[in-house]
Amino acid sequence: ALETVALNKWFGSFHALKNIDLAAPQGGRIVICGPSGSGKSTLIRCLNGLETFQKGAVRVNGIDLSRDRRQLQRLRRGIGMVFQQFNLFPHLTVMANCILALKRVLGQSKAEAAGVALHHLERVRVADQAHKYPSQLSGGQQQRVAIARALCMNPKIMLFDEPTSSLDPEMVKEVLDVMTDLARDGTTMLCVTHEMGFAREVAEQMVFMDQGSIVEIASPASFFTAPGQERTRLFLDKML
Ligand code: ATP
Ligand code: MG
Repeated sequence: ALETVALNKWFGSFHALKNIDLAAPQGGRIVICGPSGSGKSTLIRCLNGLETFQKGAVRVNGIDLSRDRRQLQRLRRGIGMVFQQFNLFPHLTVMANCILALKRVLGQSKAEAAGVALHHLERVRVADQAHKYPSQLSGGQQQRVAIARALCMNPKIMLFDEPTSSLDPEMVKEVLDVMTDLARDGTTMLCVTHEMGFAREVAEQMVFMDQGSIVEIASPASFFTAPGQERTRLFLDKML
């Protein structure tokens, strides 16, 4: 489970996150959208401790980041993160990318780790690419490997920050399909994305952010058909 309470973040004098209240139970799925610069990435980065914050609380899987940043490693172990850029290690094969943390962090043997990796690579339908290097894969394949690598650590929560926005259009669907499968499997997810078809299908809560604030939180049904705020409506008009 994941919760922020009156989370506030400043970069110097710039107020980047303003009183953000979010809550996702275990198995919950939140999709966040909003214009460029509205604070979506900053929010995600606060959730896994990539950014510090000045006020409010962040609690993830029972760990309270506002209280104790020494818990950061334990917190991160429970979170899988997928970025816009795939962030695979270029000098390692797909398989080596996937087993690295299993060996180093969890102390698994190579054989044990390879079994886990293969399972997740199959899940995202790239097991046949396991021996290749990232540069030998398409963008969509690289992003699916990045998802598999995150899944290997058996995270309680998956965070996605615009995972399809640097992909060519024909590769977007194969990544969204994998994310939809994860949602069906009951994975707790928080996704920043502007893929509104995906959002409508998998989100339990839609969040619209603007200028560092949450403008609206609603079920997809009401968010897409009858947004409560004018700013949300204007944004959706441009997106849909
Ligand atoms: P996009 O859709 O373009 O990814 P976003 O909603 O993810 O936008 P953020 O990256 O969270 O937006 O940035 C929110 C605001 O915080 C922006 O105005 C940005 O310039 C500012 N910001 C982000 N990171 C820093 C930083 N390290 N130092 C100063 N300002 C920052
Ligand atoms: Mg961003």
